[in-house]
Amino acid sequence: MIYDILIIGGGVTGTAVARELSRYQLSIALLEKEAELAFGVSKSNSGIVHPGTQNPPDSLKGRLCVRGNKLLRGLSREIGVYFKQVGELIIITTAADLPRLQKLLSDGRKLGVRGLRIVDRKWLAKNEPNLSSAVPYALYAPTAGIISPYRLVYDLAENAAANGVEIFTDQLVTGVKKGRGFIVETTRRKFEARFMVNAAGLYADEVAALYGAADFKITPRKGEEYLLDKKRENLTRHIIFPLPTDKGKGMLVIKTSDGNPMIGPTAEDIEDKTDLSTTAEGFRKVTDSVREMAPCLDTRDIIAYFAGLRPVSGADFIIRAETALPGIVTVAGIQSPGLTASPAIAEYVVRLLRKAGLNLRRKKHFQKYRPATSHLFASSVRRIRGLLERDPSYGDIVCRCELVSAREIREAVRRGARTMDGVKFRTRAQAGRCHGGFCTTRIMKIIAEELKLPLTAVTKKGAGSELVTGDRRAPV
Ligand SMILES: Cc1cc2nc3c(=O)[nH]c(=O)nc-3n(C[C@H](O)[C@H](O)[C@H](O)COP(=O)(O)OP(=O)(O)OC[C@H]3O[C@@H](n4cnc5c(N)ncnc54)[C@H](O)[C@@H]3O)c2cc1C
Repeated sequence: MIYDILIIGGGVTGTAVARELSRYQLSIALLEKEAELAFGVSKSNSGIVHPGTQNPPDSLKGRLCVRGNKLLRGLSREIGVYFKQVGELIIITTAADLPRLQKLLSDGRKLGVRGLRIVDRKWLAKNEPNLSSAVPYALYAPTAGIISPYRLVYDLAENAAANGVEIFTDQLVTGVKKGRGFIVETTRRKFEARFMVNAAGLYADEVAALYGAADFKITPRKGEEYLLDKKRENLTRHIIFPLPTDKGKGMLVIKTSDGNPMIGPTAEDIEDKTDLSTTAEGFRKVTDSVREMAPCLDTRDIIAYFAGLRPVSGADFIIRAETALPGIVTVAGIQSPGLTASPAIAEYVVRLLRKAGLNLRRKKHFQKYRPATSHLFASSVRRIRGLLERDPSYGDIVCRCELVSAREIREAVRRGARTMDGVKFRTRAQAGRCHGGFCTTRIMKIIAEELKLPLTAVTKKGAGSELVTGDRRAPV
């Protein structure tokens, strides 16, 4: 079969492009090298829907961020993913920095960021009581929000699949040849398509080199983040930023859609695209910097940490139609605010594809809506009672830390989870204080039952990460 379009990369960029294209009468396939979607950069970030501040007014990422912030609100309702507008404060610790704050205000206004204003100590004391009293002013951006980055990817992909997009995982793209259109070789098979979108995140430069566009390099910029216990949910009421530097937005106090506050990320340029280690140095930098903003931070509340790698190539996103190779759109250097900008990037890519000759005819029956997934941890007691009356297996709690039931885990597998991490990102089971100490074996059994696999084939995140090597009982 010759697809109209192949999308390489199943992160937030690739799935947003897939969902946007699925409005049209096109055959589309998305190829992902990992066992599941959202296992690249899109799983390890801060989950902030940025308002658009801290971007140069003439930058593509600035424009797409402001547009993405607007689009994500509607999109989150359509595909049933939780989004909450919490607002952000960019603070200064000395009044001498007020002109820098005013510059951010005017840059933000030029980009069209709504509701920006500078707030003073009196406002801060009333509205952000845990903030250091040394902070004289802050730039308040009410349109900042929070979203679950991986659930956004899964829900985009599910909605795209409901609209006909075919998703292939475990397909590392290794070659691109010119045929009637493009022949894309993966480690498992060949795909053919008339158009192609390279949304391969950290590896977009290596994929581009496969079709001869090797004029840019992606440098990973590592960010270490530290997650706090949910009991500190109200550490701050807003997302708190220091003044940005040329390396990025600085180290923040972040509110997350799952309730755990987070602190970080660091910003360190490295060479190794697989280095996700956290360090004592990173921990010290983050906690020292955050204590200046929120002195009540207690490091004993930190329950988990991780690192993510921003795919950086220069200061801006690279989104271009390859003129030497008509039909290919390269989407690279999607550093922060790529999560926020993703729906706007998708619109932009579709415009480039149209210009490159893709015929776009709208589907008569585009399924715009996807029913929201039920999560006990995010439900009121009344709603939980209703769910239990509908199906008692909502009462069979598997993950006690995060209140996740057997029913939610089964549903996650039925909706596409294939691995322990896939279940974790979709449901939060194993993401609490005990890190799966109590629930890992139960979840393994559910995955094995649902997918009709032996327990020895259940993996953490794909081949090579099996959890048990032998099963002394009869096969499941
Ligand atoms: C620490 C940190 C904090 C951040 N915080 C925020 C934030 O708060 N808000 C915000 O807006 N943005 C944030 N970002 C940026 C955001 O996470 C990224 O811009 C976004 O996730 C990039 O998504 P992507 O789909 O382009 O890349 P990815 O998610 O990496 O997707 C690319 C996919 O392509 C696959 N792939 C690669 N090579 C191949 C191949 N050869 N064949 C097949 N598949 C392949 C990969 O496995 C991967 O799944 C942050 C980033 C980091 C690192």
